[in-house]
Amino acid sequence: MIYELVVPGFKEAKVSALINPVTRRWDTYLLRGLFHPTEVALILSIPLSPLPVEDKVIWPFNSSGVYSVKSGSRFLANEAILSPLQAYQHQHEDIWKRIWSLAVPNKVRNFLWCACRNAIPVKRNLWKRRIIMDDKCEHCLSAPETTYHALWECPKHSEVWEAFSGCEFRQVRSFSSIRELVDFGFSEDKNMELMVMVMWTFWYRRNQIRTRHLDFPASQVIPQASQALSDFKQHNISLPLQQGGSGQSWVRRHWSIPPTDCFKVYFDGATFPELGKAGLGVVVQNWEGNVMASLSEQAPLPFSPDIVEAMAAARAISFAQELGIRPFILEGDSEVVIETFMAAEESLSSFGHIISLAKSTLDTNECISFSRTVRCGNKVAHNLARHVRGLFV
Ligand SMILES: [Zn+2]
Repeated sequence: MIYELVVPGFKEAKVSALINPVTRRWDTYLLRGLFHPTEVALILSIPLSPLPVEDKVIWPFNSSGVYSVKSGSRFLANEAILSPLQAYQHQHEDIWKRIWSLAVPNKVRNFLWCACRNAIPVKRNLWKRRIIMDDKCEHCLSAPETTYHALWECPKHSEVWEAFSGCEFRQVRSFSSIRELVDFGFSEDKNMELMVMVMWTFWYRRNQIRTRHLDFPASQVIPQASQALSDFKQHNISLPLQQGGSGQSWVRRHWSIPPTDCFKVYFDGATFPELGKAGLGVVVQNWEGNVMASLSEQAPLPFSPDIVEAMAAARAISFAQELGIRPFILEGDSEVVIETFMAAEESLSSFGHIISLAKSTLDTNECISFSRTVRCGNKVAHNLARHVRGLFV
């Protein structure tokens, strides 16, 4: 409910008039002069970007900020009272979410994500950037080595895919990209975990042969992929997410040590509505499992828990940069925040600007991947975020 009449002189004023152009913070003095205290509190709960950004039109009734017919119908059906999390859980699962839900090692999920975005260094991609002059596949010498060719189409892979139960469609159906193939695989309920492991093994094999001239018979691809998948499942206690929708969702339950010479940066946020504050927690762990640094910081209370998580993630990145650690894996328990980091397109969500800015500060080799853990796997960062409560009393 709007309490105020328009103050003379402010009829044509824009929201930017309420933001201090130097500090990039809400002008609380002006707000208190113009609005009811309840409205002032609401306005102050909207996080601002520290840098000037273009205005955007967003749809506020789902966490992506993008209008969908489903969320529009829900809004019209007066269901807009759903929390952002509930609204998110009702959304259609897209391919990125499904990739993230696969119970395969993180490196394999990241690899598939890159492959679906055609962002792996196949010869065709290097040739397009004029890094190499020849883009021919070194296995078959008959076609350019595109991502699709290297992982699926190469005739030298036929014996492997023909032995893979459920992939008979390869002989009669072609796709325009790996993304289209993966989309098809999900929609047809194929054994995507093993299929993705096989693709990853093909890529690994290709690199082993290319860089180390190692003998890696194609007949070993499926056995090696199956073994790696079963090892992963044995060593990772995973559980389906609550209300995970039609597909199974799998997340890491315990901390895992990052690869050698790589750090993990965990983040978590906490809210204290009764105090009008939020807490941000960050923990940095090295590849030997030792905690290298931690941070516990308070922040103004924004209007949704997702925003606190985004603020914690952004703070985690700036903290890692202040410490000069690299490369690192950013890990947190907020599915929506991690997905926004992983998405190629800019998010229109209420916290999209926070993540866009944090991403824009990252070098390509600085943060090598984003990863999600469940709350109990992120306990220290969680406790640090909760710890700031004690600073208010
Ligand atoms: Zn080939």
